[in-house]
Amino acid sequence: IERTFSILKPDATERNLTGAINAVIEKAGLRIVAQKRIRMTQEQAETFYAVHKERPFFGELVSFMISAPVVVQVLEGDNAIAKYREVMGATDPAKAADGTIRKLYAKSVGENSVHGSDAAETAAQEIAQFFSGNEIV
Ligand code: ATP
Ligand code: MG
Repeated sequence: IERTFSILKPDATERNLTGAINAVIEKAGLRIVAQKRIRMTQEQAETFYAVHKERPFFGELVSFMISAPVVVQVLEGDNAIAKYREVMGATDPAKAADGTIRKLYAKSVGENSVHGSDAAETAAQEIAQFFSGNEIV
């Protein structure tokens, strides 16, 4: 069993897609073991996406992430990290496979509805940035 960190991004919460996306997550066999709706601060968004700080889209990405509430989650299951990446689909919705969250709901490569951790080490870091141990049940 493995845990991954997920964000339902501002374009998803603004269109009232929290339940629809959670249904896809649960249907894929992932369990939502922690969840909260928050308004990210600029500092939190900059820390979270620090790995992308030299990229041309960094400023746009940070302002998008703080533009509306997000839902942060911890997902649990067998191979949760890889499984959730598969369920999310490619970063660019135009390249995402049928049935994936991004194919179904993403608006663009930037406003792409969901985030999921890409490796065990980043998953642990990302979970720790937003949740304390006793919030994960
Ligand atoms: P995430 O890290 O959000 O799960 P990802 O791993 O599929 O997505 P990354 O390459 O890590 O994609 O990019 C992080 C985020 O930065 C993307 O999800 C997207 O919101 C944004 N992003 C990536 N590429 C672009 C781009 N070319 N233009 C605008 N925004 C982008
Ligand atoms: Mg990424």
